[in-house]
Amino acid sequence: MCGIFGIENSDLASYFTYLGLYALQHRGQESAGIASWDGKLVHVERGMGEISEIFSESFVKNLEGFRAIGHTRYSTAGVSSLRNAQPIAVNTSLGPLAIVHNGNIVNATFLREQLEKEGSIFQTTSDTEVILHLVAKFSRDGSILKALYNALLKVKGAYSLLLIAQDSLIAAKDPWGFRPLVMGKIEDAICFASENCAFDLIGAEFIRELKPGEIVVVQGDNVQSFFLPSASVSTPCLFELVYFSRPDSTVFGEDVAARRIEMGKLLAKEAPVDADIVSPVPDSGLFAALGFAQQSGIPFSYALIRNHYVGRTFIQPTGKIRDFRVKVKLNPVKSVIKDRRLVLVDDSIVRGTTSRKLIRMLREAGAKEVHFRVSSPPTKWPCCYGIDTPTKEELIAANKSIEEIRNFLEVDSLAYLSLDALLSTVNNKTFCTACWNGDYPVTIPKSYRRSPRLFPIKTEEDI
Ligand code: AMP
Repeated sequence: MCGIFGIENSDLASYFTYLGLYALQHRGQESAGIASWDGKLVHVERGMGEISEIFSESFVKNLEGFRAIGHTRYSTAGVSSLRNAQPIAVNTSLGPLAIVHNGNIVNATFLREQLEKEGSIFQTTSDTEVILHLVAKFSRDGSILKALYNALLKVKGAYSLLLIAQDSLIAAKDPWGFRPLVMGKIEDAICFASENCAFDLIGAEFIRELKPGEIVVVQGDNVQSFFLPSASVSTPCLFELVYFSRPDSTVFGEDVAARRIEMGKLLAKEAPVDADIVSPVPDSGLFAALGFAQQSGIPFSYALIRNHYVGRTFIQPTGKIRDFRVKVKLNPVKSVIKDRRLVLVDDSIVRGTTSRKLIRMLREAGAKEVHFRVSSPPTKWPCCYGIDTPTKEELIAANKSIEEIRNFLEVDSLAYLSLDALLSTVNNKTFCTACWNGDYPVTIPKSYRRSPRLFPIKTEEDI
C-alpha cells in the first residue's frame, strides 16, 4: 500500500514530485521520500510521517535536478522504520540507481536468502531492496535496461516501480498488472504516478495506464516501451476500485467513483431494507452509500463525521477514554441518528472491531435500527500482493458466518455485495479477487512464511 510518482525532463522535477505525493498521501502515511538526479549526483530526502511533516521548502530546493521519483509508504513487507523508507539509492557498476516500489514481492525472502548466500549485504528488511541487488548482480549484462529486465524475470508478485538511472527514468509494472501505474505529460516532461489524481494537482495530462509487464524507458522527451514475458492472464487488484484508490482517479481504465456508485446500487438491489436514512462510514463508504441511496430512494445523510486532521500517531490519553482510537476519527451526528432506522454502508469489514465500535456509537446516539451493508464480498483471505490485511486468524469473515458477524456487530441486519455483482461493475473480468475467494493468481511460495512481515526482524531503529 504505497504511492509512487516520477518525472523526467523538468526544471521543477522534485517540486512536482512533492506535489504529486500530496495527492497520493492516501496510499501511505508511514514514511515518504524523494530522490532526484542532477546529471552528476542522486540527492535523497526521506522521513517518517506525512509529506507535510517531512518536506520543507528548503528540503525540496536541495533536491536538485531534472529527474525525480517519490514514494509514500504504508508497509506491507518489512517493518515501518526510516531505514525501510523509500526511495532506496545505491551505486552499481552501471552508475547510481534509486528505486520506489508499490506492491509486494512474494518470493523476496527466497531471493534474499539466495543473494545473501552469494555475498549480498542487505541494508533494509524491505522486499524492494531485492530488486536492486538483482539489478547489481546482472549489471555485467551491459545496460541498466538489460540488468533490470533480467532481474524482473526472477521476481514474482506485485510491483509497480520507478527508477532513476544515470541516463533515464524507468517505469515498470509486473506481468500480472496488480497495482496501478499511469503515464502523463506536462510541457516537455513525462511523468508517472500510481493514480492520475496526482496529475490533476500539477496540471499534467493523462496519457495512459501502463500495460502489465511493460517497462517504459524515458530519456528527455524520448519514450520507449519494452515487455516482460506476459503472464497467462492479467489480474489487476479489484480492491483498488473498492477501497484503496482515490474516487477521482481512473484506475485500470475504470472510473473509481462511478464504479463505487454502481456497487452501492447493486447492493441496494441485492439486499434492500426499509429504513429512514442511508449513511456512509466516511470516507471509505461514501460513493457506495450514494449509490445505495439513489437506487433505494432512501435519503442520504451523514450519521458519522470524520475528523480529517488526525495523523497516524497521537498521544494516548493518560486516563481511560473508551474507544479513543475510533472516537478521535469518527463521531456521531445525533440529530441525524436519533429515533431513525439507519442503513450504514462501508466498503469492507476486516477485523470487525472498528465497525462494532461505530455501531455502538450509533446506538448510543439513539438509532432505532442499524442495518449494515458492505459494498464488497466478505474478506476471507489475506492479500499477498500489497494491500495490508491481517492474517487469516484475524479476518472476521474467515472465522465467522454472516449471522455470527451480525451478532458480533450487534446490527439488525447485515449483507455483503456478491462477487458476481461486484465483477459486473467492471469491464475486465480477470481481476485479482484473492481476498474474497482465495484464488491467488501468483502462487505463494513456502518461503513467504519466513518474510519479515509475518515474522518481523527487529532492527536497532525499531527497538
Ligand atoms: P474493521 O471494522 O475493524 O474491520 O474496519 C473496517 C474498516 O477498515 C473499513 O472502513 C474499511 O474501509 C477499512 N479497511 C479496509 N481494508 C483496509 C486495509 N487494508 N487497511 C486499513 N483499513 C482498511
